[in-house]
Amino acid sequence: MDTRELLDYLTKIESGLENFSYAELKSQDAAALKASFNAFKNGLESRVFGDVETVPRLNLNNSNKANQTNETDLHLVANVSHEIRTPLNSIMGFLDLLKDTGLDTRQLELVKAMDVASNSMFNLVNELLEFSKIATGHETYEQVSFKPKNVIDEVAFLCKTLINQKNEVKFSLNYDSGIPEILIGDPAKLSQVLLNLIGNAIKFVEKGSINLTVKLKEDRSKKVFLEFVVADTGIGIANDQLKHIFESYRQADQLNHKKYGGSGLGLSIIKAIIEQQMGCIAVSSQLGMGTTFNVILPYQKASLMAANIQTQETKQTSVSIAGANILVVEDDFLSRKLMESRLKQQGGHPYLAENKEECLYILKTEKIDLILMDMRLPDTTGVQLAKDIQIKVDGPQIPIILLSADIQACLEESYKDYGIVDFMLKPCKTEELLTKIDQYINNDKKESNNPELTLNNLENKPLVDLESLFNECLQKPDLLEELVTMLKNNVVEFIGKTKVHLIEENYSGIGFAAHKIKSSLKMVKANGLLNYVEQIQDFSNNTANLEGIKTQYACFIEAYKAVEVQIDKELARLLNGK
Ligand code: ADP
Repeated sequence: MDTRELLDYLTKIESGLENFSYAELKSQDAAALKASFNAFKNGLESRVFGDVETVPRLNLNNSNKANQTNETDLHLVANVSHEIRTPLNSIMGFLDLLKDTGLDTRQLELVKAMDVASNSMFNLVNELLEFSKIATGHETYEQVSFKPKNVIDEVAFLCKTLINQKNEVKFSLNYDSGIPEILIGDPAKLSQVLLNLIGNAIKFVEKGSINLTVKLKEDRSKKVFLEFVVADTGIGIANDQLKHIFESYRQADQLNHKKYGGSGLGLSIIKAIIEQQMGCIAVSSQLGMGTTFNVILPYQKASLMAANIQTQETKQTSVSIAGANILVVEDDFLSRKLMESRLKQQGGHPYLAENKEECLYILKTEKIDLILMDMRLPDTTGVQLAKDIQIKVDGPQIPIILLSADIQACLEESYKDYGIVDFMLKPCKTEELLTKIDQYINNDKKESNNPELTLNNLENKPLVDLESLFNECLQKPDLLEELVTMLKNNVVEFIGKTKVHLIEENYSGIGFAAHKIKSSLKMVKANGLLNYVEQIQDFSNNTANLEGIKTQYACFIEAYKAVEVQIDKELARLLNGK
């Protein structure tokens, strides 16, 4: 029998599943089916990938005594890890606060060292918790509609941020445009798998490149198979170590372990996560040359309803959240940090809460303009917390945007009663997020934060002087048009480059971009914009004041909208000879 025939058989079995009567399925039959399927899968894997017997599988079958002991141990690990996490979280929070209390250099160094140590302990505890959850069969997998492109963009954004400290490492992404816009599966687990693989790559590449390729491997009637390839040009893994690489507590090289650290649990956890979702993972590597991980995961295609929701989303990008106090209620550490950096980057003031208690405390002590609320929280749900806020927090109702990975949760009309004004499907793109926030922040508030920046204010003042330029061009319309196009292109380039440099905290890049745009702005006497640019240049060259740069940058973008309107009006007037 050849591959084609085997695939035909499998396709028939798959379509048979649709006609199968699950209502009559007894637990014994289900167990027999599962065992038979696992035997088939293991047999196929050992023939295709070679000797997989050396790779221990997480044993979920607790029929014998040894396994029962194993399960008790795992429960103990889970409980202890969980208990350690809470105080550790507080330690990390207090360390963060301590950093801003005017410490001297030596004290700051010590606090930073504690920060690094507690972060690595936090990672270890999280990995142990995850490992025991998977091994005891308590890991759950979501089946929700999500946008794969958004997940990948978010992963890429985080990777670029992580790579920041390594100037000689480049990250690139190839994304197959044939991948459906919406799929059904577990987006959080996908991020976890990719971040783990890319996180390892970042660790083991000192100088070189890391590439993530996402391909549509196979497109069937109801599902697709996506292939994710994470390739790096790092230290590589020796041949004899490669077959053990997915084992728990394994490090390929003890010397390297000393240098790079790590629990040795990451790959065994993600292998289990991938396999529990009916996917597979393979690795190839050459010592000194680099390593490539290939992951294949199946996803269901989404229904029409999900696609409709997607098209309802706004694409408007010219928004501002500068000065707005936004409370982010999110239990996941990485998501919280990501949200914080996105909001700060746009001039917003983020407040972060991990649970109900912190959320209510912040609402009582700070003046919050909008809440971004995760649907799933450790001690409650986003909707329940919205109800609690109504009861426990005085003052006008604060708009809440609910973030959920589940489309169904987003469709509930009654949530509006609790101040939930909108929802967003997780993960969400930065522009979509900003557009939504902008829609609900009180306009008076925005105006009072940036008094001179509202369009009405700006439109009444001469923001540019095109007439002098026209005279300098000896009143040649073609030349004026050419110069204006050049100016607009330069502004777009400045905005784009500064955005990237901001993410990388590249002050010399920001200073240079600011220096470059100045002559174009002087040419049209755009003095308001010039002020912002000079501030940016000053902050980047002299004080490395990132927050200051971000605020001025947000102001520049907001002000440029009005300037551009006036440039176009002026240009039309001068070209028509009025
Ligand atoms: P750890 O938390 O120690 O990194 P992992 O299970 O993620 O644990 O990885 C196990 C070992 O596999 C690592 O210690 C390293 O020796 C090796 N490894 C994983 N990814 C790479 C890579 N991209 N390049 C080189 N070695 C790698």
